[in-house]
Amino acid sequence: MTAVHTPGVPRVENGELISTNPATGVEAGRLRVSDPAAVRATVDRARVAADWWAGLGFAGRRARLLRWRAVLANRLTELAELAHLEGGKPVADAIVEIASAVEHIDWAARNARRVLGHRRVRSRLVVAEFAAHLEYQPYGVVGVIGPWNYPVLTPVSSAAYALAAGNAVVLKPSEYTPVVGQWLVDTFAEVVPEQPVFSAVHGLGEVGAALCRSGVNKVAFTGSTATAKKVMAACAESLTPVLLEAGGKDAMIVDEDADLDAAAQACVWGALTNAGQTCIGIERAYVVEPVYDAFLGKLVEKAGRLTVGAGDGADIGPITMPAQIAVIRRHITDAVAAGGRAVLGGPDAVQPPFVRPTILVDVPEDAAAVREETFGPTLTVRRVRDADEAVALANAVPYGLGGSVFGRRRAVAVARRLRSGMAAINSTLTFVGMSTLPFGGVGDSGFGRIHGDDGLREFGRAKAVTRRRGPSLLPAMTFERTPEQVTRIAKIVKKMYGR
Ligand code: NDP
Repeated sequence: MTAVHTPGVPRVENGELISTNPATGVEAGRLRVSDPAAVRATVDRARVAADWWAGLGFAGRRARLLRWRAVLANRLTELAELAHLEGGKPVADAIVEIASAVEHIDWAARNARRVLGHRRVRSRLVVAEFAAHLEYQPYGVVGVIGPWNYPVLTPVSSAAYALAAGNAVVLKPSEYTPVVGQWLVDTFAEVVPEQPVFSAVHGLGEVGAALCRSGVNKVAFTGSTATAKKVMAACAESLTPVLLEAGGKDAMIVDEDADLDAAAQACVWGALTNAGQTCIGIERAYVVEPVYDAFLGKLVEKAGRLTVGAGDGADIGPITMPAQIAVIRRHITDAVAAGGRAVLGGPDAVQPPFVRPTILVDVPEDAAAVREETFGPTLTVRRVRDADEAVALANAVPYGLGGSVFGRRRAVAVARRLRSGMAAINSTLTFVGMSTLPFGGVGDSGFGRIHGDDGLREFGRAKAVTRRRGPSLLPAMTFERTPEQVTRIAKIVKKMYGR
């Protein structure tokens, strides 16, 4: 019989983490909590596995990763239903998320050799007697710490690239979605049964902290900015390199020549998908004066039609993390108290564990709803003079993850001026599914990149090799050089570079 608990924060009982649906309390599963010794033992086993995995070479890893991709593709519905059961997200959203994860595994597997493999690099005239070689070698064991909002895509976005690069991975999933994390590890073990190349440790935040201190060779963290700072501090103790994918406060800019129906449709999706619990979710819209009223009307009409509930057919599911509800409520009530107006939803829209879509206008730019990550189905919309003012306001927050621009003539130029790692023109969030493009932020949104060539290089360290292919005409790096030769070197440098 399915156990039902009081919905709320995850509980640990008898050394087991009990994972439950945030709306219904239905139990999704239980997992043994790892203490620091168990975390270290898992990493030690992964280190042995890493040697074996690296020894398979690109072709061996590619074949196995493509088999894992096929398992995910074939069992996509099963995994989507599990993500719905555990995190509460609508099944349709989970399917879209998993589809993207499958594509990233495929791309990372197929492109690792091209990006990271051993290759010759051109020499230069002054060192022409040497050949140069470059390759990106695996770090060893990569610790992946993931959030709950995209429990498949966020771990896979780091893990698939790290694995393709030849590393073993130890995953610490969020305490809100450990069952989905374990499902990923178990299915990988089905296609790679020989060694624990991809394993998981479970528990609350302290297990993530233990992973940072466990001797892993790199940490790939996805989560909030506050935790990213703790992860970086813990990793600094051992100079363990970090990749930090943190929070965001993405803006959409709507210019006067935008297709307003398309802009409103994309804005509703970008702001409200996954109940707004999306790092690259649109939380602010800046709309130029001539099209402001028409855009807002369309936006409110489309957002007002969305359904909210725990069923798998609802457009918007519950807020997964109960503590976030207080943040969402504070942002809405503070915005209204500061002179903002709710043209849809408002303070009453907060009905735990649900929040109905809320659109706020005339909110001062220093309000929390404009400056801090809300992580709920809310959006602020502001009228601006022109695209220049929109860019200035969009860039005036500490975060810089993604963003969106709707328009024609100036759209590319405006997108380039956004202080962010990514931007989508005439769409929202689309860069996350583009496996050829790097994904990551600036400022409080973190640093380092997942996805694309950069995402593969993130999980390999550059190994540079020079090889002598003939005698040096002008020996520089030897005590046997003569004063005449040094004089000639100085003359040549002046001639070549002194103009
Ligand atoms: P958190 O920062 O709360 O948690 C992220 C992960 O870190 C969890 O697994 C958590 O474990 C773990 N953790 C907590 N404390 C520590 C610690 N001291 N040391 C190491 N690990 C720790 O984020 P959320 O899970 O709430 O995720 C939401 C956040 O993630 C949002 O800010 C969102 O913007 C961001 N995000 C960023 C993305 C990006 O690509 N830039 C993508 C998706 C989300 P536990 O859950 O057990 O506490």
